[in-house]
Parts: sequence; C-alpha cells; structure tokens
Amino acid sequence: MSFGANLIPHPSISGVKIFQNKNNFPISWLNTQGYCEYSIFLENVRRVKTEPTKSMIRGSHEHSILEEKFREDAEPATFDEMMETSKTAEILSREFPVISATYGIRGFIDEVWMTPDEFVIIDDKPGTIAYPSSINQVYGYCLAFKDMIKEDRKIVASLRQRGTDRVFWASYFDEKAEKQINDIVNHMHELISGEKEFNSTDNPNKCGKCRFNSSCDKRV
Ligand code: SF4
Repeated sequence: MSFGANLIPHPSISGVKIFQNKNNFPISWLNTQGYCEYSIFLENVRRVKTEPTKSMIRGSHEHSILEEKFREDAEPATFDEMMETSKTAEILSREFPVISATYGIRGFIDEVWMTPDEFVIIDDKPGTIAYPSSINQVYGYCLAFKDMIKEDRKIVASLRQRGTDRVFWASYFDEKAEKQINDIVNHMHELISGEKEFNSTDNPNKCGKCRFNSSCDKRV
C-alpha cells in the first residue's frame, strides 16, 4: 500500500514533505528524537551520509521476510473496506500507511489488528526494552491512525520483539498518551520551522553507538 497522497518535497529538509500546505515528517523521527534530535539535523538538514548499521540491515531483512509471508495469503482491500469488515470480524494488515495533515506526520505501521472492539497498533523492535522513544514512535502511529479513522473504537499501542510474537509492552492510547505525543509532535514542528534549535544528547554512551559520530560537531 502507498500513501496515495500528494507529497511535495520540503525545500531544505530532506525527510520533510509538504502535505496539504503543512510540513509533514516521518513518524520514525519521534523515536530518533528521543535518542538525539541532533542526528535528525545532521541527516536531513546537513545531509550527512552514513553507512547503514548492522542492526538496520538485519531489521530491514527481517521486515522483508515477514512482509513476503504476509503477502502470500493476503487479500488486497481498501482502507474503507477494512474499516467496514473489521466491525464484524478480526482482520490484520501489515505495512499499513498512515498520514495526517492535521498533525503533519506520516509512516507505515508494522502491523495493525482490527477487531470489532479495538485496533491494536504494533511496532516491531529489535529488543524487548520499552524505551520512552519507542513508545513515542508507536504513539505517533496511533495519533495518525486515530486521525484517519474518525471513530471511537479503542486503540491499543504495542511494542513487539521483531521476528517473534512476543508483545513486550502495550497500553491504551488514551487522552494522556494523546496529549503527550501531541506535545512532542508540536516540538518537532518547531524544530523543522526553525523556531527551536535541534538539541544534542549529553550522554557519551549514545554518541559512542551513533552512526553519525565521526562527522558530528556535538559529539560528547
Ligand atoms: S554523535 Fe552524539 S550528539 Fe552527535 S548526533 Fe550522534 S548521538 Fe547526537
């Protein structure tokens, strides 16, 4: 599935698109922001190029395997058809595209379970630790998804260990979670518009593992 939306490249920030006259950034940045938002600046404003890390390569390989397995017996359906079917039956979708003009965010959800009672939004992660940055990312998917469905079935945010069925963290996407992620999304838009500066981490352990560390002027 694709966004099927008209995305115009931002004039100076590579990952940002203009959608319905508003800056729109990838939801995965909510995870990166929690690690070090300066890496977003290096990659997308200064356009520093790095080799993908081993974990990125492994993640993308495991992703393709799951995607291929899913496609073997998947029946294509439109968004509206899925919403309708899921009112009476449980269905599952992978690589589910979400985009919100209201919040200026977009991305692909690893897996969505749609049931008559609730939607479960799943983001696959390499380990089993529910980092705040991982939670922010899955909340970002929930926020965009909620904006698209415009109905009141409950939404559950979940983190699952990649390549397994093990969901190691789950929580309802309630009012508190929605406010929390909305504040971070607004902060990101202030960085993109230049109202705020991208901060760098002061944690040397993060810099040690960062793929930008050889070209970063803020490394500690
Ligand atoms: S080297 Fe450190 S400060 Fe620089 S982008 Fe990476 S984590 Fe951030």
